[in-house]
Amino acid sequence: MITGKLYIISAPSGAGKTSLVKQLRQQMDKLVVSVSHTTRGMRSGETHGSDYFFVSVDTFQAMIERQAFLEHARVFDNYYGTAQKTVEDNLAQGLDVILEIDWQGAQQVRKMLPDSVSIFILPPSIEILKQRLQNRGQDDEDTIARRMRDAVTEMSHYPEFDYLLVNDDFDLALRQLKSIVTANRLLQATQQQLLAPLLQNLLN
Ligand code: 5GP
Repeated sequence: MITGKLYIISAPSGAGKTSLVKQLRQQMDKLVVSVSHTTRGMRSGETHGSDYFFVSVDTFQAMIERQAFLEHARVFDNYYGTAQKTVEDNLAQGLDVILEIDWQGAQQVRKMLPDSVSIFILPPSIEILKQRLQNRGQDDEDTIARRMRDAVTEMSHYPEFDYLLVNDDFDLALRQLKSIVTANRLLQATQQQLLAPLLQNLLN
């Protein structure tokens, strides 16, 4: 049975991870992005079921209790989690699945699924990161200052990841992300299953 690959993508907020992942999904087939559950409020422009499943703390706790999460963590005073079943179903169908999660979730997933591939995205500089957080216009100065501190904590975990890239030139970063997915699809162990009829024909 050919199963998909699980990709963990982490970055400090403001590194451009979500935009990169959105483009990646549009440009590659057989790739889905997991929609997380969160207890944080919806920001303007966000849609329930597409950006996140926005749920109450009670609902989130109930999901923890019935072990519905592959991973979950508290990030910026809110809870975030990845529903296990959807991820497993997609992988079983041979689809590659992307998780956009923080370093805590990445650690949990890596422990449970050591075959997963993890990618960390860095901003080109600390000044540009701050600029990007300010330009969002969604957070006040205190929140931005806190997010900057959290960003440094997040970035300190980069050595735990398989791949490291910098989102300076968006198109370049996107090409690099695509290369990672493509290279993993070409791994011999994966190809061996996909190309079984060809290999049999060639070797007999
Ligand atoms: P935001 O609230 O800005 O969308 O996301 C804040 C942080 O939560 C980001 O670092 C993001 O990667 C992380 N995050 C989003 N979904 C999940 C999830 O399902 N699990 C974990 N552990 N972190 C998540």
